[in-house]
Amino acid sequence: MKKISLTGLKPTGSLTLGNYIGAIKQMVEMQDNYINYLFVADMHAITVPINREELHNNIKNFLALYLACGIDPKKNIIYLQSDIEYIPCISWLLECNTYYGELSRMIQFKEKSKKNANFSVGLLTYPVLMATDILVVDADYVPVGIDQKQHVELTRNIASRFNKKYGETFKIPEPLITEVGTKIMDLVDPSKKMSKTEENNKGVICLLDDLKLVRKKIMSATTDSDMKVVYDQEKKPGISNLINIYASLTNKNISEVEEMFKNSNYAQFKSAVADVVCSFLEKIQLRYNELINSDEIDKILREGALVVRKMASDKFDTMKLKIGLYR
Ligand code: AMP
Repeated sequence: MKKISLTGLKPTGSLTLGNYIGAIKQMVEMQDNYINYLFVADMHAITVPINREELHNNIKNFLALYLACGIDPKKNIIYLQSDIEYIPCISWLLECNTYYGELSRMIQFKEKSKKNANFSVGLLTYPVLMATDILVVDADYVPVGIDQKQHVELTRNIASRFNKKYGETFKIPEPLITEVGTKIMDLVDPSKKMSKTEENNKGVICLLDDLKLVRKKIMSATTDSDMKVVYDQEKKPGISNLINIYASLTNKNISEVEEMFKNSNYAQFKSAVADVVCSFLEKIQLRYNELINSDEIDKILREGALVVRKMASDKFDTMKLKIGLYR
């Protein structure tokens, strides 16, 4: 029997080649292994200020891009978090069984609240909403990066506490620390991660970037004066980053790429990287455009919402009964 896995996508910024190579590619490879619930975490996106247009547009854009990258709607139950009206209701019931001390100790809360002293209460209670997302679908596993592990541990504590107090209600989930995909670095400053919120976007390749611009960004990527296509993350971070990109998109290993380009200069190598990236992005953008101009995304979200709304409604009823919230 396949285990249940849950993944949330936060629709902020613009998806980058780093997101694809570091995360989406692995998700596509793993989608046969589990019963996958995949949701757009739009309610998580509003814990910090976000522009209305960006949020609204990203909901569909992100999903269309994930599907274009190979996420299969037949292998994933896909839904929009805010379509499931019982989720905030359940979250409230869980909040009343969570301690302020637990939430204020969360590392992400401490870091994010430091950046803006006028932070919302949502920033504090967001891990309870995340616990709700996980517990509603009875997830066995939550694939997360190491930065989110603490939130899954909190979910386990909240669920166990509720089960103990009110009787068996929730399955206890486990974090699945995902195999870290290759980390893709900024093309201009290869000492920092290529980030979807980065403002100097000369170093960032977005999945929907114009292909001519992509080629230009790759051709002007920061390198070194050595002129040898050799992998050395410390001494040659720029070239190593381009080798990683090439290797990931062609499913080759590093030494195969080094061998292929042992007689090439940097301009020739960069041009080959640009060819591979552009042909990959061209395919994705074609499929993205088909999806975004059809009603397929709406249909997928409607079907997913039907399934998860029923699960959440049942869970809410069970919880209310156990707590004593009934006439
Ligand atoms: P974020 O864009 O920070 O919300 O991250 C979403 C997912 O993409 C996480 O699993 C990140 O680890 C992954 N990711 C984001 N940027 C990169 C990058 N430059 N290289 C590799 N993985 C990345």
